[in-house]
Amino acid sequence: MKQGTAALDRIEYILNHPLDVADPSNPIPFVNIRGKVEFRDITFRYEENIALNTINTNVKPGQIVALVGPSGAGKTTFANLILRFFDPIEGKLLIDGIDVRNINQYDLRRNIAYVPQNPILFNDSVRNNIFIGRTDASSLSIEEAAEQAYAHEFIKDLPEGYETPLGEKGSRLSGGQIQRIAIARALIRNAPILILDEATSALDAESEKAVQKALYNLVQNKTVFIIAHRFSTIQLATRILVFDKGRIIADGDHSQLLNDCDLYRRLHNKQDE
Ligand code: ADP
Ligand code: MG
Repeated sequence: MKQGTAALDRIEYILNHPLDVADPSNPIPFVNIRGKVEFRDITFRYEENIALNTINTNVKPGQIVALVGPSGAGKTTFANLILRFFDPIEGKLLIDGIDVRNINQYDLRRNIAYVPQNPILFNDSVRNNIFIGRTDASSLSIEEAAEQAYAHEFIKDLPEGYETPLGEKGSRLSGGQIQRIAIARALIRNAPILILDEATSALDAESEKAVQKALYNLVQNKTVFIIAHRFSTIQLATRILVFDKGRIIADGDHSQLLNDCDLYRRLHNKQDE
């Protein structure tokens, strides 16, 4: 009884929690998305401190953009605005020219695959853990997605293959394996826009290589935003946005930024040490 009451309190808290964003009363249909993303004069703050300050940027369909910068610079906030976890205080965000406030949240998020920094695995089979991201649009089978995610090999060696229960938080798997499961999930969603918050936890060299190859497969033919911590991941990007204190202070490719951007060069050199 006591446990049940505690659980009920939590459910009530969530049900009664005011929504940060609301669906429009006359949503604009959001189909056949090409994946153009535009930030127009966007400012955002959580409390009194400004997290994003007058951001203006235009990302073309199929561009692979890396977001780099020190911790607290605004990268996660930038990504969360695309998912419309909250609305900007000033300015607007357009996808394929449509203000996201005019799109149903369900339609919006169905078109975005999100691979978080610490993917959550459920206490269920490997198959169901990958399948969770499935929408009708997908043309891949689970095994195909797992192969492209460089996960098929280790999955098939588990005691019951794809039917193996993963246990609490995937305790059977290594960090790199969990990431590849999350990548398989995103592959099967096949959404035109992909947001990836790269895991910071150290991977062994073997695992890092497999994750890099999996990411390479994942980013093809999508508009991609990668919050990148490792320079091996930044190499996937065709364009890099450098964030500092809520602003985008530089925008270019790797060699341009090494030449022109002190902060980028510092971040890069720090990693070589
Ligand atoms: P990054 O991802 O580059 O590390 P964030 O977007 O997480 O940066 O944070 C930008 C700024 O917003 C930071 O100053 C951070 O402290 C603040 N911030 C982030 N999330 C919250 C939150 N939920 N509540 C209050 N402040 C936040
Ligand atoms: Mg972050």
